[in-house]
Amino acid sequence: MEKFQQSMYDLIVETSTKLPKDVRRAIARAKVRENAGTRAAMALDTIVGNIQMADENVSPICQDTGLPTFKIKVPVGVNQIEMKKAIRAAIVEATKNGKLRPNSVDSLTGKNSGDNLGEGVPVIKFEQWENDYIDVRLILKGGGCENKNIQYSLPCELEGLGRAGRDLDGIRKCILHAVYQAQGQGCSAGFIGVGIGGDRSSGYELAKEQLFRPVDDVNPIEELRQLEEYIMENANKLGIGTMGFGGESTLLGCKIGVMHRIPASFFVSVAYNCWAFRRMGVKIDPQTGDIIEWLYQDGEDVDFAKELEKAEAAAALEQGDTRVIDLVPPLSEEQVRKLRVGDVVRISGMIYTGRDAIHKYLMDHDAPVDLNGQIIYHCGPVMLKDEDGRWHVKAAGPTTSIREEPYQGDIMKKFGVRAVIGKGGMGAKTLQALKEHGGVYLNAIGGAAQYYADCIKSVEGVDLMEFGIPEAMWHLRVENFTAVVTMDSHGNSLHEDVEKSSLEKLAQFKEPVFK
Ligand code: SF4
Repeated sequence: MEKFQQSMYDLIVETSTKLPKDVRRAIARAKVRENAGTRAAMALDTIVGNIQMADENVSPICQDTGLPTFKIKVPVGVNQIEMKKAIRAAIVEATKNGKLRPNSVDSLTGKNSGDNLGEGVPVIKFEQWENDYIDVRLILKGGGCENKNIQYSLPCELEGLGRAGRDLDGIRKCILHAVYQAQGQGCSAGFIGVGIGGDRSSGYELAKEQLFRPVDDVNPIEELRQLEEYIMENANKLGIGTMGFGGESTLLGCKIGVMHRIPASFFVSVAYNCWAFRRMGVKIDPQTGDIIEWLYQDGEDVDFAKELEKAEAAAALEQGDTRVIDLVPPLSEEQVRKLRVGDVVRISGMIYTGRDAIHKYLMDHDAPVDLNGQIIYHCGPVMLKDEDGRWHVKAAGPTTSIREEPYQGDIMKKFGVRAVIGKGGMGAKTLQALKEHGGVYLNAIGGAAQYYADCIKSVEGVDLMEFGIPEAMWHLRVENFTAVVTMDSHGNSLHEDVEKSSLEKLAQFKEPVFK
């Protein structure tokens, strides 16, 4: 079992830090499709640079290392109880070494267990089979994309697409709608797994199962092969683009599975996965516990050399129409009101992290630091303390901002905050507050946890550690931290614009295709 535990540790580290070959190829294809000099191209350049940095540093690709889910097939006679113990020990070790963020939270008290263990965490599912080896697959799926999963009960009415009936064409509409409703919030460009049939839980299970298929495989069921091909061809016409900035690459993969259902129910379940598609697998020798083969290793390997350094990416934009503006907080209202949607900003100086717990806290308490003119970063970083008690950032990309919508506007006004950085955009309440108060929303590149960790030059303090590492308020000194203004103080929102134009484009797919 000791050897098996080591094998599981290696699998966890590899999954968290290195994208599999098929996923890399899909990202490389997206990069070719995107027009140079656009914000979407800059986002993809950042993503590619981030993947490269994660490879080199053996550090998490994204700071949200998700809910670890293991799918295991074992020969008859293998001791599953001991295997579970070894997997849990490997998870604890990987968390301690900064390869996984402590992500397991008590649903009632909100307390983080600190070691990624908890009731139902990690998810470990066993199945017996007749082969003589063990097959272990692992997926680390983060919250941003998990929250964009969606389930349809046919027949139904769909925004932009009209009625979706209980047939292949109705399924087609649901899948297109699933891509539309995700916008950039699940860190597009993404991959989707679709489950047709089953009940509410087995439908989602089947959808997630599809994510374990290689991106380049061909569906053996002819109708589904055609549907997958159709979706890949047409979903990218919605123009949502990387991070929802608009652009050519919205979907990187679509895999569809089917199972029986009962006559009264017809579910189409869609599991959305971000570009940071961290799933890996190994074959294990049941006698020794050794890895005998790594899975998802077929085909060409794309080695993402740092094609564009960060400065060069911004410089490429400068040559186009995009304004690139340097910001050093504290920011004045006048400075912020000059910023417009579409501007790219490079921040140097202090920023302060704050996510769900901090926002809730700040509603009823004073801030532990003076936030006047400052920037709040929606981020739950992976942090490690060295022997001298100094904190180091291991991964620090943005988290989904919309969760802070109930609080954000009030907090900006209460403390004089001038900018928030996050991903996926915010709603009408925040947009109104930005207008009244003089603030901006800055969209960082979701999942680019290594890229942003590299921009953080020092950790100058931390408050409210009682909320746990991801939720504490970290004081970070950054240099050339790049983000895009997607909501400004003049009532403009790129998120609203892209959503509106993609809804219009969705309508072109209203007519039946599969009779
Ligand atoms: S890339 Fe985005 S959606 Fe994916 S895990 Fe990271 S933050 Fe979440």
